[in-house]
Amino acid sequence: ASAFDAVPMAPTDPLFGLMAAYKADTFDKKVDLGVGAYRDDNAKPWILPVVKKADEINRNDPSLNHEYLPIAGLASLTSAAAKLVLGGDSSAIADKRVVSFQTISGTGAVHLGALFLAKFYPRPENQSVYVSNPTWANHHQIFQNVGLPIAQYPYFAKDICGLDWPGLTASLESAAPRSIILLHACAHNPTGVDPTQEQWKAIAEIMKRRQLFPFFDTAYQGFASGDLAKDAWAIQYFIQEGFELCIAQSFAKNFGLYGQRAGCFHFVAAPGAHAEDVAKRVSSQLAILTRSEISNPPIYGARIASTVLNDPALFKEWEADLCTMSGRIVAMRKALFDKLVELKTPGTWDHITNQIGMFSFTGLSEPQVQKLREEFHIYMTKNGRISMAGLNTRNVEYVASAFDQVVR
Ligand code: PMP
Repeated sequence: ASAFDAVPMAPTDPLFGLMAAYKADTFDKKVDLGVGAYRDDNAKPWILPVVKKADEINRNDPSLNHEYLPIAGLASLTSAAAKLVLGGDSSAIADKRVVSFQTISGTGAVHLGALFLAKFYPRPENQSVYVSNPTWANHHQIFQNVGLPIAQYPYFAKDICGLDWPGLTASLESAAPRSIILLHACAHNPTGVDPTQEQWKAIAEIMKRRQLFPFFDTAYQGFASGDLAKDAWAIQYFIQEGFELCIAQSFAKNFGLYGQRAGCFHFVAAPGAHAEDVAKRVSSQLAILTRSEISNPPIYGARIASTVLNDPALFKEWEADLCTMSGRIVAMRKALFDKLVELKTPGTWDHITNQIGMFSFTGLSEPQVQKLREEFHIYMTKNGRISMAGLNTRNVEYVASAFDQVVR
C-alpha cells in the first residue's frame, strides 16, 4: 500500500490538453487558436531580432560566467524593469520606495506577491483576493495555493462582448475594505477587454475611497498596443494617485522569452516619511521568501532583457519589434472582422477589432467551439477564447468561413 492511496487524480490542464490534441491532428489545414505565444505569419515561433542581437552580445562576452545571481536577481534588469513599468521619471523610484525582485517570469511574480500578501498583508476579517470573472486560470490556483480566499468581480458582459462596467463597479463598491484586487494592467487575458482611461480613473477613485489594495498583473506591456507607455498607463496612474501596490511583470510575451522565465515582482510603498524604511523591511522579507523557494532566479533570459533595456539603440529596435508583433495582431483582427462582415455572418463582430492584445473572446458557444474542432480542425479553449497570434494571412479566410458555418 502507498501512503498516497488517497491522492485524487487532478484534471489535466485544459490548455495543455488542447495543445496535445492539436499536435496529434494530421489534417493539413488545422489551426491552433489556443496557443498563448506569438506566432509569425508562417505560424512559427518568432525570435525577436533584437533578442538575437542581445543573445549574440552575451554569448560573446568573455567576462560572463554561470555563477549564481544574487537572491533579488540581476540588478541591471530589476532596475530597468522598474523604470519600464513605472516610467523613468517615477517619483516612487526617486523616493526609494520601490522594491524589485527578479522572479520565475510572470507566474513567479504573481506567486511571490501572493505569498508575501498571505504572510504580511493585514486582512482583519479574512478579506478576499478579488479576481476578474473570467481571469487567467492560474490566478485561482496561485492564490488558493497560498491560502488566500478568492472572490470574483464581474468583468465580461456577454451581450456586448465588452466590459461589464456596472457589475465591476458594484462589486468594488461592496468589497470589504482591505480586500486585494487583482487587475490586469493591459490586454486582459482571456477577454481582450480593457477599461478605458476614464474607467481606470473611476476604478482608482472607488478603490481609494474603499481602501482596496491593487495588485497589477502586467504580462503584455508593449505587446498590447505597441506603445510601452500606453500599456503601463493604468499602473502609473494608480501610483500618481498615491496607492501602495504590487506589480507582477512578465517578459515572456514582449521579449518572446517564454521558456527563459524572465520577470519581476515590484512592491511600491505608499508615499510618506517612512516609505523608504517600509520598502527596506519588505525587501528583507521578499529575500527570505525567494531564498526558500528558488534561492536565486535564472540568469540567461535576465541578461538578454537587461542588455536590451539598458542600451538606448537596442531599446529602440525592441520598440520596433513590439510594433511588428502588435501590428500583425491588429491586422489579423481586422482581417477576421472584414471577412465575417463580407460573409454576412449572423451577429455583431465589432468586439473582434475593439478588443486588444493576444486574445479575443469571440462569443462562440461551447457547442460551436466543439464543432469547429471536430469538423474544421480549428482548436480553441471551450470558453470561445481565440489567440489572435494563431491567425495568419493563409488561414484567416478558412477560419472566418468556419465561424460563419458554425454560427448559422
Ligand atoms: N498573467 C497573465 C494574465 C498572463 O496571461 C500570463 C501569461 N499567460 C502570465 C501572467 C504569466 O506568464 P509567464 O509566467 O509565462 O510570464
